[in-house]
Amino acid sequence: MIKNILTEPEPILRQKGRDISPDELGTPKLEQLTRDLIATMYAKDGVGIAAPQIGQSVQICAIAREHTPEQKSDLVLINPVWIKKSLIKVSGEEGCLSVPDVFGKVKRYKKIKVTALDPHGKKLVFEAANFPARVIQHEVDHLNGILFIDKAKDIYRTDNLL
Ligand code: ZN
Repeated sequence: MIKNILTEPEPILRQKGRDISPDELGTPKLEQLTRDLIATMYAKDGVGIAAPQIGQSVQICAIAREHTPEQKSDLVLINPVWIKKSLIKVSGEEGCLSVPDVFGKVKRYKKIKVTALDPHGKKLVFEAANFPARVIQHEVDHLNGILFIDKAKDIYRTDNLL
């Protein structure tokens, strides 16, 4: 089901989502949330989405299939954490479904190692680089109540250009 995207200054966007507990994995409720996240992401033309953006303050995010590292399916990350695998940070333009019409340059680590669970509780460990690494860092920030505008430089709006 396609959900409404919550936008800044919605308080839930500023909360740290709670971890998903082991007994929630594989339940119909969690599967529904996963389906809602993915359906909403594609409906809104997002490359990634995090549960707080549809009003659920829990540690789940999804990455669109064309931006998943070395995978051909949508990537659902539960309780994800990452560590940097390179010291290099690269600056790139970002926007966010929860901060409409606003863009800015954000420095992100070029390469990261991600640890998470999939919706069935299988442990995922993988490296991501470049754009997929950027999307994952952006989505994990959401799960911790952080928005890209907190870190962005050269912020501009597209709704007052005309
Ligand atoms: Zn976002």
